[in-house]
Amino acid sequence: MDRFILAWAEDKDIRQKGQCGGFVTALLKFMLEEGIVDYVLTVKDAERFGYSLCLTDNPKEVVECAGSVPWATPNIAKFIKIHLDTDKLRLATVCKPCDARAVVELAKRNQINMKNVFMIGLNCSGTFLPVTLERTLDSLNVCIDDVERVGIKGDKLTVSLKNGSVITSDIEELEKRELGRRENCRRCEVKIPRMCDLACGRWGVPEGKKATFVEICSGRGAEIVERAVELEVIGFERASDENLRMREEEEKLAMVMSEKWQNYYFEQTSSMSYEERRNFWFGMFNRCIKCYACRDVCPVCCCIDCILNPWRPLIKGGEIPPGPAFHITRIIHVAESCVNCGQCQDVCPVEIPLSRIAHKLNKEVQKKWNYLPGVNLDEMPPLSRSDGFS
Ligand SMILES: Cc1cc2nc3c(=O)[nH]c(=O)nc-3n(C[C@H](O)[C@H](O)[C@H](O)COP(=O)(O)OP(=O)(O)OC[C@H]3O[C@@H](n4cnc5c(N)ncnc54)[C@H](O)[C@@H]3O)c2cc1C
Ligand code: SF4
Ligand code: SF4
Ligand code: SF4
Repeated sequence: MDRFILAWAEDKDIRQKGQCGGFVTALLKFMLEEGIVDYVLTVKDAERFGYSLCLTDNPKEVVECAGSVPWATPNIAKFIKIHLDTDKLRLATVCKPCDARAVVELAKRNQINMKNVFMIGLNCSGTFLPVTLERTLDSLNVCIDDVERVGIKGDKLTVSLKNGSVITSDIEELEKRELGRRENCRRCEVKIPRMCDLACGRWGVPEGKKATFVEICSGRGAEIVERAVELEVIGFERASDENLRMREEEEKLAMVMSEKWQNYYFEQTSSMSYEERRNFWFGMFNRCIKCYACRDVCPVCCCIDCILNPWRPLIKGGEIPPGPAFHITRIIHVAESCVNCGQCQDVCPVEIPLSRIAHKLNKEVQKKWNYLPGVNLDEMPPLSRSDGFS
């Protein structure tokens, strides 16, 4: 099997229902039906920008989940860690790059058994908070009930309406007005999840062709796709040089946009004096109501008895705001492994830009130790390595 293919579901209904030819859905269904895995973890769309995670052993339900849900930011890694015993059950899961990176970081800390987790990665340009997406649509004079599909193509937001028309808008312009994608997605630096068994996306596929570009990233990924092709579940063709070139260009464009946003957000504070920067962040932290949501949601936080618990000596119970030690400790604890998933920021009820400071600190760690979290299972986090403090 070639490393790069264009692939689709042979089943007509799945091909139609899938976002880009239904390869992912057909393969997940095949893995359940063939007994290769016990469960599949996917995402289910719901009314008015709602969604839910779907853990199922029912192939029919897998098909119901076909399609992209760009307002869904499920905490897939955390769900697997908390709710599934991956030593005992075999799982196939879909994941965006940030989900996959968190799974890999947890696996390095023995919280997830990768032998039993097959990751089907989806390329990703970004996701939306439902409330911001509604405001974005408002600004384009679009009613939520008229929307068929929302997506990002290059540097444009595209909104397909039920009446067949398509509205496009410059994503950077929208985001300068705090509309568009989540803040962490703008800065996101991993767009193709090559740490997964398969990395799937529409980049590299010519306009109008119902297929997904699949990069086969593991031996077991190749074996499973080959079996699915043999049994005529999946159709495929070799990716051409032109397909590869198109995909590379799209990835490059997304990375240029991400770098611009990193500079924008990080320079806001790095251009300040020490005093100003301190006042900025401590002012933010003063809003904190110590709800612990940022700690509890973080997919890479996994200490059994967290030092921030009120019965430990660091943070006094019954006092708000908790003081900067709460935040500094949390952020330092995830500095080497923060995958910029944005979950902490999404849940903060007082809107502290938490992922921004965690990502910034992580960039410093990256510079010092040349370590990008979650992209290589065999590379240990710097502070766990014998040369970590050198
Ligand atoms: C939010 C998002 C952004 C994307 N951005 C890009 C991009 O910029 N460039 C690119 O090349 N490809 C991108 N993709 C991938 C692409 O849109 C297709 O998902 C991919 O080509 C597979 O198509 P398919 O028909 O085989 O998938 P389908 O058969 O339609 O299966 C898709 C699977 O993805 C799951 N899913 C849907 N939404 C989410 C979500 N938010 N998080 C996790 N899982 C989800 C569904 O449950 C389903 O199992 C993106 C996908 C998503 C979900
Ligand atoms: S952080 Fe990156 S991978 Fe995750 S949803 Fe945003 S753009 Fe996609
Ligand atoms: S600190 Fe925030 S952005 Fe970083 S991994 Fe944890 S939840 Fe995600
Ligand atoms: S989520 Fe926000 S309010 Fe809650 S503890 Fe974290 S920083 Fe404080």
